[in-house]
Amino acid sequence: MSDQYAYLRGEFVPLENASISIRTHAFLYGTAVFEGIKAYWLPESGQMGVFRMADHYKRLQQSSHILRLRSPIDADKMAELTIELIKRNQCQANTYIRPIVYKADLRIGPILTIANTQDDFCLFTVPMDGYLDTSKGLHVGVSSWRRLDDNAIPARAKVNGAYVNTALAKTDGHLAGFDDVVVLTNEGHVAEGSAMNLFLVRDNCLITSAITENILEGITRSTLIDLAQKELGLSVVTRPIDRTELYVADEAFFAGTATEVAPITKFDHRPVGDGNVGSISKQLQDLYSKAVHGLLPKYDRWVTRV
Ligand code: PMP
Repeated sequence: MSDQYAYLRGEFVPLENASISIRTHAFLYGTAVFEGIKAYWLPESGQMGVFRMADHYKRLQQSSHILRLRSPIDADKMAELTIELIKRNQCQANTYIRPIVYKADLRIGPILTIANTQDDFCLFTVPMDGYLDTSKGLHVGVSSWRRLDDNAIPARAKVNGAYVNTALAKTDGHLAGFDDVVVLTNEGHVAEGSAMNLFLVRDNCLITSAITENILEGITRSTLIDLAQKELGLSVVTRPIDRTELYVADEAFFAGTATEVAPITKFDHRPVGDGNVGSISKQLQDLYSKAVHGLLPKYDRWVTRV
């Protein structure tokens, strides 16, 4: 028996016992929304620091709203439970936190509606470091899979079932020899990575896909936009990005909660810039690492210490 707990059906239970029925609506149809939140071990204070927790729970509420999910608890209570779970699990290393709001009805017939369902909230943690190797540049390919469209399965909502799109793109990219992939929209514009947003640098200007390009409105994306503008004085443009802009960018990197800031040094076998990790990428990687570790007093509001 491990000493780890999860939160399920309104209570903390040992992780091994945190199971749901095979008849659950969310299991049958992917009808759930989730968040990926990261908490960092802060060695100076011997505490955990949860990064931008309120923003993650705000996005979870928005995802829920789109999917007609009604969580039995509100965002403040979710944050309280998250703090309680970190304490119970005695986390003392970087940790990934996974809250889920899901359609909990037990379905016995093929009646598929997302109105008037019974919805629930659950939560667990796993230790996590190094989702991608950020120490050197990544080789990224353009996926032959297209990103989900807002009028099919909205990318703006973090819907569990939508991660079939991520899994197809990421797996086929790996099998083709790439570290990760860029996924295009149906119009052929750059949307984002398999499960992270993408930034390019061209002529000292930071460019990232607009929120109308079928991206998840990433919290790391918004963090980096703030840091780039306010700390590095860079101009940031959000707009549609053409595929071949990847090939002529001076620098490129992925951004996400698990990914953090991951520099890209090759797209489709073409070096990005001079083929080395660029200086703006490095500076943002460093600033981001300081921010999540609570080392930027100006942005201390982003870190909840536990
Ligand atoms: N896009 C997708 C599809 C993702 O799954 C993620 C990870 N949550 C991101 C972008 C990055 O979002 P965030 O910075 O909020 O983690």
